[in-house]
Amino acid sequence: MLLMELKGVSKTFGETEVFHRIDLQAEQGTIISLVGPSGCGKSTLLRSVAGLSSFSEGQLFIQGEDMTQIKAEKRPVVLMFQQPLLFPHFTILENVTYGLKYGKQKVKKDERIRRGMALLEKVELEAYADRYPNQLSGGQQQRVSLARALILNPSLVLLDEPFASLDPELRVTIRTWVRDFLKQEGVTALFVTHDREEAMIMGDQVAVMKAGKLQQVGLPEDVYQRPENKEVAEMFSEGL
Ligand code: ADP
Ligand code: MG
Repeated sequence: MLLMELKGVSKTFGETEVFHRIDLQAEQGTIISLVGPSGCGKSTLLRSVAGLSSFSEGQLFIQGEDMTQIKAEKRPVVLMFQQPLLFPHFTILENVTYGLKYGKQKVKKDERIRRGMALLEKVELEAYADRYPNQLSGGQQQRVSLARALILNPSLVLLDEPFASLDPELRVTIRTWVRDFLKQEGVTALFVTHDREEAMIMGDQVAVMKAGKLQQVGLPEDVYQRPENKEVAEMFSEGL
């Protein structure tokens, strides 16, 4: 089943067109890596899928429903940023359950605790429930941030360079962990990065964005070994 479909989406800021007529599809349960150089419009595209910005033209469908005009808070989508942005004065459990307390669902306290602890167990941080964000490492904070994102059962998870602020060694460990976790949970995700290696490892499919266009979408090994044009070849020619 197609979970997400972008049909001919473009974005302009004033006179400048950031991207042009992009078509992209995500099957239920797949991770799509969107890779491209800094400034090519990846974050703008994700923000528009989340509803925090609007497309200049084109349409977004989620589970077959046209979401193009739907407000951010009504979209079954969650956006995870580069920085975990946890509330420093809230415990880990309070951070994870924040959306259940203040979101549209208004879930009762004992149910919030139950669901929050269940997710903390899944990200292997149940022992840290009563601690505060500054008592956790960067990688642990990203796992909390993932638990917080998933607590509202989103249909689609958007990850905007979520490992960019981590040191190289931790990045390698956590990306594998996050990938395994997303696959295990059957989550559909759009994963944005400017790092080609990370795109290949994280994605079931890799979508290459450059010069305002989607240059190629395919299996990681196909994009790497059989680039369809000069733009893609140049990006992957330097090796990984
Ligand atoms: P990426 O995430 O791929 O690095 P961005 O989506 O952040 O790229 O930015 C793409 C381009 O759009 C950049 O040239 C940036 O300056 C421009 N841009 C982003 N947001 C705005 C905005 N609110 N107003 C004007 N230009 C913007
Ligand atoms: Mg960006």
